[in-house]
This record gives sequence, structure tokens and C-alpha cells, in this order.
Amino acid sequence: MEQVIIVGTGCAGLTAAIYAARANLSPLVLEGSQPGGQLTTTTEVENFPGFPEGIDGSELIMRMHKQAERFGARFLYGSVEEFEHREGINCVKVDQQWLETKALIIASGASARWLGLPRERELIGHGLTSCATCDGAFYKNVPVCVVGGGDSACEEALFLTRFASEVYLIHRRDTLRASKIMADRALTHPKIKPLWNSGLEAYLADDEKKMRAVLLKDLTTGATRELEVKCVFVAIGHNANTGPFAGKLDIDSKGYLAPKHGTSMNVPGVFAAGDVADQVYRQAVTAAGLGCAAAISAERWLAEQ
Ligand code: NAP
Repeated sequence: MEQVIIVGTGCAGLTAAIYAARANLSPLVLEGSQPGGQLTTTTEVENFPGFPEGIDGSELIMRMHKQAERFGARFLYGSVEEFEHREGINCVKVDQQWLETKALIIASGASARWLGLPRERELIGHGLTSCATCDGAFYKNVPVCVVGGGDSACEEALFLTRFASEVYLIHRRDTLRASKIMADRALTHPKIKPLWNSGLEAYLADDEKKMRAVLLKDLTTGATRELEVKCVFVAIGHNANTGPFAGKLDIDSKGYLAPKHGTSMNVPGVFAAGDVADQVYRQAVTAAGLGCAAAISAERWLAEQ
């Protein structure tokens, strides 16, 4: 029986691991299907306090990982397949094996949302991706596009200017949702060409089943046209990773875990932290803060038992 199992190794999970380990709880941390979480798919993180020159997302995660290990956190590769609360014990099934724990901190994060167009699945990895840092370098001196109008879309577009000949920023409205600093940077970059009030109608592949172009729709006139791009980077937000907990824990109308108060969920000993339970802020530093809060709440709850 574990004292604490932490699900996820993004900012929230690793911060929870640092705090739980320092509280001598020897937490078992499950790495999940995307170890390190979303920060490992970003480039420079400029707004995490303490790094005035910025820090690479993966480097920041690596440092948190080391810090948690230093205090005795244990790590296990694997994703939660099922969750059950049995007679006061929280149980998670990982690789077909049930693990038992008193406290469970869920920091399973969020995954990229897709447009839901035909042929999406088969084109992923063949000119369709949600990660510019992972795939941007494959598209040197060719036109690419980014779909979305938030901070992620601007960040992806700016990163892609290092490689692509031009970066079309396709947004369904005529103003960006992104923060002013990111929007200004993107819109003043000579390689970034915003296409306002535009939606993607279809992905167009070549004979080798690689992205050739997209069918664009002008959402004000309804007119459609082809736009030649070698890769589409989708940056339209994320869905909370709540799969194994659906029907067992409170989930709000938008699909996020909904704590009863603070980070405490509706089941005793279960706590939620980070993007899986935050549809408002979704920042690295708020995820870290919530991870800290969840670990302190778990520690206090364990002490009360
Ligand atoms: P987001 O802020 O939710 O933006 C998603 C964008 O995608 C919006 O512009 C939205 O359009 C568009 N969109 C959503 N569904 C769509 C669809 N079906 N078709 C076409 N467009 C669609 O998501 P995000 O950019 O991933 O950012 C998430 C959070 O992380 C935010 O809080 C952001 O501040 C933060 N973040 C921060 C940084 C940074 O500080 N450097 C970097 C990345 C992310 P509408 O605008 O019309 O809704």
C-alpha cells in the first residue's frame, strides 16, 4: 500500500512529488504517456519566475524531476487505465496491475485537441501535427500553417519561422485570443501571414498520403480556396486527460476534474492539480502551485487518518 501515488510528470505532478517527497511520503510517480507533459513540447518558457533569461521547457521539467528524485520520489513508467475507490483505498490499474494507495494526486494534464476533419488520424505524422518543437525542423523552406488564435498558436508560429518559408496563421475570428505580447510578436513577424475569419474545411494529401494543401473557407463570405502547405500545426487548445476517472470522480461540463474545495475531489484521499482541473489559468506556474497545494492537502489528509 502506497502512501501517495501521483499521476503525471508535468509541472503539477512534479511539484506535488517534490512536496510529498520532502514530507517523507516517498511518493510513487506515474510518468504517463507523455512524460514531462506539455512543457516538453514548448520551446523557451519566458514566464516561469526565477528564470529571467527564460528556460527551455524540457530543461525546466528535467530539473523538477531531479529535484523530486533528490528527496526520494520514485518514478514508474505507465499510464492509469482504471481507477476505483474500494473500502477507503484508492486503486489505480497500471499496465494491467492494480496499485493501492491511501492518497492519490491526479495531475494527468491535458492533450492537444484536433479539428475532427476526415483523414485526420492517417495524416498525423505525415504533415499534420500539434507540436512545432517536435516536427518544425522537418519543414525547411516550405510553406506551413498553424490553426488557432491563442498563445500556443502564436508560439508555434513564431518557432516555425526558423524553418518554414512562410507561416500562415489561420484563425476563425479577426482578433487573436493570445496575450498581447505574443500576439504582437506574431503579427509583426515578416514570415507570419494571418488569415482572419478562416476555417479549415479539409486536408488535401498528395499521392504519397502526405499533406499537400488545405481547403480554406472564408467564414464571412463562405468562399473556399486551396492553400498550399506542407504541414498543418493544430493549436486549438487541449482536452483534460480524465479518461480513467470518468464516472468515478466529479467532472465539469467542459470535461475537467472538478474539485469540491481546493484540490480535494469528491472521493476521500483523491486530489487534483494542474491542467486536468484548471480550465482558467493553465500556466506552468499555476500548475506548479496547484501541485504544491495538492501535496500539502494530501499530507494533511493522511495525518488526519
Ligand atoms: P486557448 O487559449 O484555448 O486558444 C485556443 C485557440 O484555438 C483559440 O483562439 C480558439 O478560437 C481556437 N479554436 C478552438 N477550437 C477551435 C476549432 N474547433 N477550430 C478553430 N479554432 C479553434 O489554447 P492555447 O493557445 O493552447 O492556450 C492554453 C493556455 O495555455 C492559455 O491559458 C495560454 O495563455 C497558455 N499558454 C501560455 C503560453 C505562454 O505564456 N507563453 C504559451 C502557450 C499557452 P477562439 O479564440 O475563437 O476561441
